[in-house]
Amino acid sequence: MPRSVVTGGAGFLGSHICDYLIGKGHSVVCVDNFITGAEANIAHLKNDAKFTLINQDVTEYISVKGEVDFVFHFASPASPIDYIEFPIQTLKVGSIGTHRTLGLAMEKGARYILASTSEVYGDPLVNPQPESYWGNVNPIGPRGVYDEAKRFAEAMAMAYHRTHNVDTKIVRIFNTYGPRMRKDDGRVVPAFICQALRNEPLPVFGEGSQTRSFCYISDLIRGIYLLAVSDLNEPVNMGNPSEMTILEFAKKVIKCINSKSGIVKKDLPIDDPKIRRPDITRAADELDWKPEVSLDDGLVEIVKWFKKKIGEER
Ligand code: NAD
Ligand code: UDP
Repeated sequence: MPRSVVTGGAGFLGSHICDYLIGKGHSVVCVDNFITGAEANIAHLKNDAKFTLINQDVTEYISVKGEVDFVFHFASPASPIDYIEFPIQTLKVGSIGTHRTLGLAMEKGARYILASTSEVYGDPLVNPQPESYWGNVNPIGPRGVYDEAKRFAEAMAMAYHRTHNVDTKIVRIFNTYGPRMRKDDGRVVPAFICQALRNEPLPVFGEGSQTRSFCYISDLIRGIYLLAVSDLNEPVNMGNPSEMTILEFAKKVIKCINSKSGIVKKDLPIDDPKIRRPDITRAADELDWKPEVSLDDGLVEIVKWFKKKIGEER
């Protein structure tokens, strides 16, 4: 039975990775300090003999007994409001946490999968963004703590690959949504859907002309697994290339929910990227991966999730 360590395994993406790996017959060791994660995300795995939880900060020495085949390093605050609230923890988990987990992978002879981000491209000057683009990042702005931590993490992963021959993989994840996102995590999908379900105005930052695209969780997790078992060591973009403005997205959410909400314009956060769209040619060519869930279908699922969460408030 393959054995995987998943850091950040109690978070949104990490908990779906734990589920997927267990479904593939792995045993899973989840390492999380719950800074932004939730027990509820892994409650269903607690009594599974294939699942173990280590409640610790991955910037501290990580001790895992026995063999390990894969290390998935997904621990990090990921929503802009989270990494702006926890700037130093974000820098530490991306730098020291990456160093620790690479050390664990090297000691165990395990494959290593780093959760990187489209934020390594910053406020991009090319669109769509291929992996060969080096980015346009402000290192000292409020988002710099996340962007630079991930850029450092990528550099560290490549150094372990080149120097110690660790079989490292880097997935540059573009905006992904799905069940287990928090209502209050501040990202645009939860923010808009929860407001629309409450028939309250949707907060569009700036004029809403900035673009994003949204990948459904099941597509992303399938792609990450394909990458994990591949021979690739270069970074791979994963996301949905179907780009739209944030204002268009707000209107789509209102229509999909048949909500009475209007739109309220709020200040655009500093360094908010103006355009973003993944070039997924490498994932398509090398992994035969592309997203299959349309935004319309994904919205139906995520609306169900937030309806339930809002229902629990009452
Ligand atoms: P999340 O906040 O739901 O999950 C992060 C998890 O990491 C949480 O459970 C948190 O408690 C844990 N964690 C953070 N610091 C830790 C530490 N020092 N020690 C142990 N655990 C720690 O966020 P998410 O959306 O699931 O993101 C997961 C990963 O994917 C992150 O690395 C993020 O940068 C990356 N990512 C996500 C997206 C996305 O759209 N969701 C996009 C790009 C990159
Ligand atoms: N956004 C918005 N209203 C919100 C939250 C976000 O208009 O309540 C915008 C934000 O300015 C950004 C886009 O939506 O341009 C995506 O934001 P998110 O925080 O989801 O992730 P990002 O892509 O910025 O990392």
